Amino acid sequence: MKSSMIQASHTILFTLLAFFVASSASFAQKSFHKNKVIAHRGAWKATNLPQNSIASLKQAVALGCEGSEFDVWMTADGILVVNHDADFKGMEIETSRFEELLSQKHENGEKLSTVEEYLKAGKKQKGTKLIFEIKPSKISVERSKEVAEKSVLAVKKMKAEKWVDYITFSYEGGLKAIEMDPKANVAYLNGDKTPAELKEAGFFGFDYNINVLKKNPQWIKEAQELGLTVNAWTVNKPEDLNWFLDQNPDFITTDEPELLLELIEERK
Ligand code: MG
Repeated sequence: MKSSMIQASHTILFTLLAFFVASSASFAQKSFHKNKVIAHRGAWKATNLPQNSIASLKQAVALGCEGSEFDVWMTADGILVVNHDADFKGMEIETSRFEELLSQKHENGEKLSTVEEYLKAGKKQKGTKLIFEIKPSKISVERSKEVAEKSVLAVKKMKAEKWVDYITFSYEGGLKAIEMDPKANVAYLNGDKTPAELKEAGFFGFDYNINVLKKNPQWIKEAQELGLTVNAWTVNKPEDLNWFLDQNPDFITTDEPELLLELIEERK
């Protein structure tokens, strides 16, 4: 009798615990802004901040963007770092050790961020998602897959899964990220797969060049019918932003987040 009562109270406790865990997880997701605006490499242009700096991430957060995008490479000694170009101040990232890369700084005095530092900064808020671009390795496809694997492991280690959506030009890297975390949102950038192919492979959606979508506008509807997300890069001109807004995309990646926020506000 006693043991069954203990068992019942354990069951109730477990159910309550599961409920609290589930509701706090959905709270984190629901708290993100819903305005489609993804700041490309952070919000840097209007404020003259270095692209991919933590300052540009904070600026995207301050503007209230739904997401802030950043680019990730792996150093020769296996450290994931945040930078757009293949080189940082003339030093090739993939063939340089992290220590060497620290010899230079961003224009605002920031050091080159590791992914862990970047995620830590991003997790301090709950309004802006972190759009994690896994850069394809220039050395090999195998290395691209390794970067994808390490990226997902870093996000898990930092418990940043709720904040992160992945994007990548590397199809193999994208598949590796999906394999590492089947629940992860991974969108493909390269513009050479149909929505049906992406759906079949387990992608979350596409994030294609705006000109690819202008040439293949039917892909937008096809993706929407398949339940894939629709995003485009890098949409900066007012006429392109308005054309794309008319297609009802999920996200729009832009160097002009202030302008896009204004255009969206005008449509309300
Ligand atoms: Mg990028």
